[in-house]
Amino acid sequence: MSSSVAIENAFDIGQVRNLFPVLKREVKGKPLVYLDNAATTQKPQMVIDGLVAYYSGYNANIHRGIHTLAEEATAAYEQARHKAAKFIHAESTDEVIFTRGTTEGINLVASTWGRRNISNGDIVLISGMEHHSNIVPWQILIEEKGGVLEVIPVLDSGELDMDAFRRLIQHNPKLVAINHASNALGTVNPVKEITSISHDAGAVVLIDGAQSVAHLEIDVQALDVDFYSFSSHKMYGPTGVGVLYGKRNLLEAMPPYQGGGEMIKEVSFAKTTYNELPYKYEAGTPNIADVISFGLAIDFINSLGKRNIYAHEKSLLEYGTSLLKEIDGLQIIGEAQEKLGVISFIIEGIHPQDIGILLDNAGVAIRTGHHCTQPLMERFKIPGTSRASFAVYNTMGEIDVLVQGIKKAVKLLI
Ligand code: PLP
Repeated sequence: MSSSVAIENAFDIGQVRNLFPVLKREVKGKPLVYLDNAATTQKPQMVIDGLVAYYSGYNANIHRGIHTLAEEATAAYEQARHKAAKFIHAESTDEVIFTRGTTEGINLVASTWGRRNISNGDIVLISGMEHHSNIVPWQILIEEKGGVLEVIPVLDSGELDMDAFRRLIQHNPKLVAINHASNALGTVNPVKEITSISHDAGAVVLIDGAQSVAHLEIDVQALDVDFYSFSSHKMYGPTGVGVLYGKRNLLEAMPPYQGGGEMIKEVSFAKTTYNELPYKYEAGTPNIADVISFGLAIDFINSLGKRNIYAHEKSLLEYGTSLLKEIDGLQIIGEAQEKLGVISFIIEGIHPQDIGILLDNAGVAIRTGHHCTQPLMERFKIPGTSRASFAVYNTMGEIDVLVQGIKKAVKLLI
């Protein structure tokens, strides 16, 4: 594995930061403090170089060519699939479908498995902390097929109401679709337990892994999930690429998602037969360069080790939480026991957007608003939050800058 990071059990944070060219820039005359990682992470040089290497060295369409460039491109593309399969411990690369991202993976399942399996009165059970991309595809589906959407409530702590879940599962939903970790609260949901209970009730389980894959060890076989969807750009890789993992028996039984080249075995006007997995779900020329660089992002994460990444981000979370709690009028939204490096907060009397603008003036990038979780914001009776979210390259010093910036904003605005 190619990596310039030689780290065993802990980070040399300076060395890690050096791999990310954008972290050297300034914003409004101040060093950039990038704390919008739940939206998208920055990219290490090796990921950027991977794109250039493909386009300048072996750009070719994959799978169909017999010339050298096509063979090199195909090998690199399929190597990325191997890396992705290993990364989530899928049994086979056949179960790893490249998509445009988490959203497309969920839509793929809704339009294929969903259209075939959901009909009048069937229940799709989601949670009250879902991103819009794990709500709207199911609404489109049930509108077409006459299904019903049910929702697991969220407790004040930002955790799922598991008692309510155990009651709702008795309605025998056909599908349970929840996130592994909430982008708005940071809550890590008990996916293994939810999956096991759902399977006992005969439901298929889809997990939105957009927020979890960069931070938690993911073993789709141990979790026993049926579908797991995630995005490269939230794990140091390029935009426009993601993975939908699906269990082989489900993927084989589902109809294709899109028709076109690559997803077929044989086409005639009388009848078309579809390709083997995973190509059945990859119609047309895929995003070759970005898939290859996504593989390099996986190398990057592996070179540091997920456990190290998690431990580092956990200490940032604890440090940030303790400092923010000292600020008068500041309330953290979402204080689950199991939580990733996300701090969502509101400050009495101040609109989140004003905080965001003032922090930007200090070079600090956070996210403000509803975070594509409008029903969750409604649940907490707030229009939105300010959210700082951490990645492997963030430092305690950056959290100090964030806290100073918030204190200054409070003084100015109240
Ligand atoms: N699900 C969650 C929990 C997210 O945080 C996001 C993005 O913020 C998505 C889904 C959608 O991901 P993408 O836009 O990469 O498809």
